[in-house]
Amino acid sequence: MENIDLHLIDQQYYLPTFKRIPITLVKGEGSKLWDIEGKEYTDLLAGIAVTNVGHCHPKVVKAIQDQASELMHISNFFVSPMQVALSELLVKISGMNRVFFTNSGAESVEGAIKIARRYAHSKGRGGKIISMENSFHGRTLATIATGQAKYQEGFGPMPSGFAQVPFNDLEAIKRELSDDVAAIILEPIQGEGGIRPASPTYIKELAVLCEKEDVVLIFDEIQSGIGRTGHWFAKDYFGITPDILTSAKGLGNGMPIGALLCNEKIAGAIHFGDHGTTFGGNPLATAASIATLKVIIDEHLVKEAKEKGDWLKSELIKLQQKYPSIREVRGLGMMLGVELDSPALPVMQALLEQGFIANATAVNVLRLVPAMNIPKRDLKNFLSAFEQILITKENKND
Ligand SMILES: *Cc1c(COP(=O)(O)O)cnc(C)c1O
Repeated sequence: MENIDLHLIDQQYYLPTFKRIPITLVKGEGSKLWDIEGKEYTDLLAGIAVTNVGHCHPKVVKAIQDQASELMHISNFFVSPMQVALSELLVKISGMNRVFFTNSGAESVEGAIKIARRYAHSKGRGGKIISMENSFHGRTLATIATGQAKYQEGFGPMPSGFAQVPFNDLEAIKRELSDDVAAIILEPIQGEGGIRPASPTYIKELAVLCEKEDVVLIFDEIQSGIGRTGHWFAKDYFGITPDILTSAKGLGNGMPIGALLCNEKIAGAIHFGDHGTTFGGNPLATAASIATLKVIIDEHLVKEAKEKGDWLKSELIKLQQKYPSIREVRGLGMMLGVELDSPALPVMQALLEQGFIANATAVNVLRLVPAMNIPKRDLKNFLSAFEQILITKENKND
């Protein structure tokens, strides 16, 4: 079947939630993707910060194949060697104490909200959750209640017990604080909100405040985690350990798996039967995740993400100095955003025509979240394509 036919059938049957790019992708390898017509693309989006070690990394593929033929699913009533190994590994790389496995980012955040509330109730506090403006924590009811108003429209009534404050504003949090507040949730680097890092002093003061007031601090590292920022988690850049940390996206390199991690203080409020999942952490998903983390460790990709990300950022800043269309370059490691003076969508489309997949977010921001092991040559090719597009754009503006 041809691209156009597939696109038409897709439009007929798939719930019109995503405005699709009319390209059918059929194969991936490392930082490359191919569409059904054989056109090659360089991928700087990595399935939205998911395929951190590249498409179809042979070690991840082999782990999935081996596990699929051995045992795929057993329920969480039983122990599996793969899940045990992943628990141990995740606790080790995160510095947290306990883990619970989920199937997605939103599910990790839902679990985080539940266990934060459970802890707060055990201390006689209310269940209110404070989140940040411009945040993104998922598309389930509780996670849209923490997020931007545009995702809530028409889906009311919203669950109660949520409040929002401006990002990077400690005073705004202090004004909201009371015995009603269970937790504060934030992305240490806002992803969908346009790659906006928190200020280090804000994060440090926030951690001190939460400790003092016994308010649970939740870091949503679904996008910023698993090495992408040049640290295992962005929390390590800030030197802060939250009470709860959520993960997903890059955790399985494309296998749907998420996790929430917490410290012993929070774990102490959780008892048998308090939370659950059927699929979460099954042998197949955990095998893929272990293989992914091992690749990151064995191939030193956290360091590579930092070095290559720093280099890419400095090259983008050079472009910014030449082309006023670029307002700002933000981000850490391989999680970068280029804010333009106009919507990023036409730039994204121009890149796509030239065989580069990037993403437009928060209207004016071009988001770059490639695989951590993308060859430098691919990034150089992207930079020259991007520069040509900027030149064309600015000529049109004149
Ligand atoms: C993508 C994302 C989510 C939601 O993850 P899903 O797997 O789509 O549910 C939550 N938080 C952050 C920070 C994200 O980037």
